Amino acid sequence: MSGTDDASLEFSPSQMQAMGQAVVERAVAHLAAIESQAIRGDLDVADVCRSLREPVPEHGAELEPLLDQLFDELIPRSFTTPGPGYLAYIPGGGVYPAALASFIADTTNRYTGVWQAAPALVQLEANALEWLRDWMCFPEGSSGLLTAGGSMATFNAILCARERYLGTDIRRGTLYTSDQAHHSIEKSAKLAGIFHDRVRIIASDGDYRMRVDALEAAVAADRAAGLRPFMVASSAGTTNTGAVDPLEAVADICLREGMWHHVDGAYGAFFHACPELRPLLAGLPRADSLTLDPHKGMFLPYGTGALLVRDGAALRAVHSATAGYLPAQQEEFYDPSQHGPELSRGFPGLRVWMAIKMFGAARYRAAIAEKRALAVWAAAEVARVPGIVMDAWPQLSLFAFHLEGPRLASQDARNAATAELMERVTARGRVMLTGCTVEGRHLARVCVLSFRTRAAVMRECVEQIAQEAGRILND
Ligand SMILES: *Cc1c(COP(=O)(O)O)cnc(C)c1O
Repeated sequence: MSGTDDASLEFSPSQMQAMGQAVVERAVAHLAAIESQAIRGDLDVADVCRSLREPVPEHGAELEPLLDQLFDELIPRSFTTPGPGYLAYIPGGGVYPAALASFIADTTNRYTGVWQAAPALVQLEANALEWLRDWMCFPEGSSGLLTAGGSMATFNAILCARERYLGTDIRRGTLYTSDQAHHSIEKSAKLAGIFHDRVRIIASDGDYRMRVDALEAAVAADRAAGLRPFMVASSAGTTNTGAVDPLEAVADICLREGMWHHVDGAYGAFFHACPELRPLLAGLPRADSLTLDPHKGMFLPYGTGALLVRDGAALRAVHSATAGYLPAQQEEFYDPSQHGPELSRGFPGLRVWMAIKMFGAARYRAAIAEKRALAVWAAAEVARVPGIVMDAWPQLSLFAFHLEGPRLASQDARNAATAELMERVTARGRVMLTGCTVEGRHLARVCVLSFRTRAAVMRECVEQIAQEAGRILND
């Protein structure tokens, strides 16, 4: 062998120490300065993207220049999603213990796809799922799955419902969801073989909640046409306006009609962790399955969604599989590959487990409740601003509104003014807002769900909305 060992990809312990330290230093400095970062970085970067294209590098680079490029040039050119003023879409923030967990999971690189390969570690994931079950008041016997996000959780829920109610007779099955539902429901349905001609979009009411009478009528019409209504996917907090569908009433209909009730709680489910807020989500624990997004309501970094299924055996039945090269299955302990479509995968359980262990449930409840309280306070303040009309008060922690004024005579003018209001506020750099379009009306939204969003930034948010609304209407 020659002196230089080109085939080795190993680093010495002191090299790993130094590199790890360099990364932690950059990451912590980044977080320490996050509040002073523009809430929306410079996104006019098509030229930067073009300049980044390169052939496979033949030889390796040093770490420091890569960190320079990432932290100084590329990371800032994005939405500052971890910033306290990020009130756009559905925030989360990204708590530090989860980042530590990811580092540990990736450096120790144990195999948690099958129980036998790391039973004690898989147990931590099972614990984390049990804790989510406890917060959601799902019964014992429920089971769950950690996924890459809410979309994949919903996909797996549709598979469970399809298997139970349709078997191989997929084409006759019909699925119901509201006109305010997240687009991932229709997309997941398609992935699960339920095509758009079998998805019924149910009208919502003045509060953007699914209309129960319209749901009943649609189910009856499909039955009369010889189809098989098998699933309702309702929303526990829509992305547009934060609306919570009438979960109790939908659960009643599903019970009566023999349908699977899935609740999309990707935005709203974690409010159920707070007992005093449970009335806002009444009926949620009766669902057959529930999508949660720990990377929203548990404030984790992106990459972790979750599914709970009331009949744990149903989830297992969909995914259970074996092969000659796998260990024999056992019944006592949770086994991820027997409950989801993936075999090899990362260790998502560790970030959920570690965050809950390090903070404890009490601090989680306090943080979640504070986000709602901030939204309720801010909505009342914003509603007092001349020209602002509230379209959706916070059912959870999201509210939506638009601008009206004597000069805004047409819907187009109101839409343009509302969009300009959001853009002007966002351009000031402290608070980022995004809107939504509902039946041709453009609404501004404020969604409070980042753990870094506290009272001070909400005061700024209200102030800046008032100032910019005044300028748009009066200048
Ligand atoms: C975010 C969201 C989803 C999709 O979840 P991902 O984690 O982005 O896949 C679905 N439904 C609602 C209500 C959401 O807010």
